[in-house]
Amino acid sequence: MIAKKTLKLSLKSLRDFAKKRLPDEELLALDERDECPLEIVRHMCSPDQLGIQLLFIPEEFGGMGGGTFDVYCVCEEMARIDLGIATAVLATFLGSDPITVGATPEQKKLWLSRIANEGLLFAYGATEPEAGSDLGALRTTADRVLQDGRVVGYKINGNKQWISNGGIADAYTVLANTPAGPSWFVVEKGTKGFTHDEPEDKHGIRLSNTAALAFSDVYVDADRLLGGVEGQGLTQAQAVFGYTRLMVAAFGLGAGWAALDRAIPYSTKRIQAGAPLSEKQGYTHKLIVPHVAHLEASRAFIEETAERIDAGEGSLNTEGAIAKYMATEAGNAAAEASIQALGGYGYTHEYMVEKISRDVRITTIYEGTSEIMEMTISRDRWQFHLKTRGQHYHEQARPLEALHAKHPNVGADIAALALHALAEVMEKARVAHLTRHQHILLRLGEWIAYAECAGCLARRAARLAEGRLHEKANLRFDATALAALSRTFAREAALKVAEEGLRWIRGAGGVSDRDIAAFETSLGLPAIHRAQAGLLPDMDYIADVLYDRAAKRAAVAA
Ligand SMILES: Cc1cc2nc3c(=O)[nH]c(=O)nc-3n(C[C@H](O)[C@H](O)[C@H](O)COP(=O)(O)OP(=O)(O)OC[C@H]3O[C@@H](n4cnc5c(N)ncnc54)[C@H](O)[C@@H]3O)c2cc1C
Repeated sequence: MIAKKTLKLSLKSLRDFAKKRLPDEELLALDERDECPLEIVRHMCSPDQLGIQLLFIPEEFGGMGGGTFDVYCVCEEMARIDLGIATAVLATFLGSDPITVGATPEQKKLWLSRIANEGLLFAYGATEPEAGSDLGALRTTADRVLQDGRVVGYKINGNKQWISNGGIADAYTVLANTPAGPSWFVVEKGTKGFTHDEPEDKHGIRLSNTAALAFSDVYVDADRLLGGVEGQGLTQAQAVFGYTRLMVAAFGLGAGWAALDRAIPYSTKRIQAGAPLSEKQGYTHKLIVPHVAHLEASRAFIEETAERIDAGEGSLNTEGAIAKYMATEAGNAAAEASIQALGGYGYTHEYMVEKISRDVRITTIYEGTSEIMEMTISRDRWQFHLKTRGQHYHEQARPLEALHAKHPNVGADIAALALHALAEVMEKARVAHLTRHQHILLRLGEWIAYAECAGCLARRAARLAEGRLHEKANLRFDATALAALSRTFAREAALKVAEEGLRWIRGAGGVSDRDIAAFETSLGLPAIHRAQAGLLPDMDYIADVLYDRAAKRAAVAA
């Protein structure tokens, strides 16, 4: 992990660089021309310039040895600038991941040192025309080349699709099927038989180069097989999912906030019906405040997961999936609402919210789609439910009830209601065998993500009140505002789990006419409905905080 001061300096350099080299007009022009600014990407990854990639390279290989929390902070900052450029930088992070987790010490030394010292750009080549969400359908092959019965190299044949940095990388980590199963190889630019297509003409992240790759009898020496053992590819890819999904979660968070941070000041200047839009409750409470609550709930989950990964709790793949799912969905919704918030202006290319909305769209697709995240979350937590005989989420609720006794304002009691309701919905689904319906399985993934995020945001609000947040944590909101955000989000999460749970369990035939009243009671619906009290004043308060008028209102009230 790097020192807080060093991280702050890196983030400041990044912001200063963007201000100078990537003002909005320049970003819009590059987007219009569909151009990846290679010189800027190289500058950002060059060790004697910004050197962002140094952050994630261990110190022993010439990097700064940043931790997951550091990488989250940098990813959010990059996404606030431009998601296309952020993706170009991310591709080197991703491309080097199979090396970090699976390579031999010699391979690590070679490639990670070259990324650190030469600013080598990487691409991560997993997806194929027929293998997207289902990487098991991989068709690219790596056949052994033998000499005197010994494997001296491999011949790679096949195609990769949608590869970020595909046309500009210096080296590529490529997943291919060896006789013993999927394995990662490093292939350098210019290797005979290896070509890439023209860049894709994309909906968004047009500053990122995305291209298909083709391999025709591409020979690589045996030492290009990462880890030196065949068949480890999918395990190696899995080993970093928690971490890499957290990076994309930070992209959703950064892009969502970038859009809202344009909509908020816009609404203070735009006068309609005699007053600024920012004074209209129907505007702020639909287009701004709920999105802030969703983004901050996601942030709570990202920060908690980053801390846990840095503390050595393992790869936390499911937590990474929850963070990615919530933050990227929230980022998309926030950007979409920001277009609405700017009205006709928001709909034009001239205003950044339109570009941000196109850019952030990719975050629910790459590094695992939202539907795959729902499935991952649901399958994993389903096992917890079974192993604990239905008690898992009841048990998760109890510490929140205890937290409520200590901090009655952070919404922990409402988050606990969400978790209790979730346990009941899951139990009903188990008894009626409803997870055989894929839709129910995936909806469970969504409700789990909401309920867990509600608990996490309540914990974050309490920690902030106690002055115990991570030293590098985002401090945009003070303890009072974060508590209001937490209550607002928890009310939504509890209602969502209980009412949508009831809807789909009933809709799938999981509860009879005779049993439905008892099921409604078990969900705690009356308590969840009563917990909605105070919602509007909380949203009023959050709007006042966002528009810097909370102190003024308090003074007037006094
Ligand atoms: C701009 C861009 C950059 C990218 N960069 C990279 C990169 O650098 N490296 C790389 O390897 N890949 C990259 N990708 C690929 C990306 O990771 C895949 O597009 C993504 O994993 C989805 O795969 P797919 O496009 O084949 O969609 P599919 O898997 O065909 O999915 C299509 C739809 O079906 C849903 N779906 C899929 N399976 C199921 C299921 N079992 N049940 C229910 N619904 C399902 C999905 O959620 C999605 O909504 C990039 C893609 C884009 C567009």
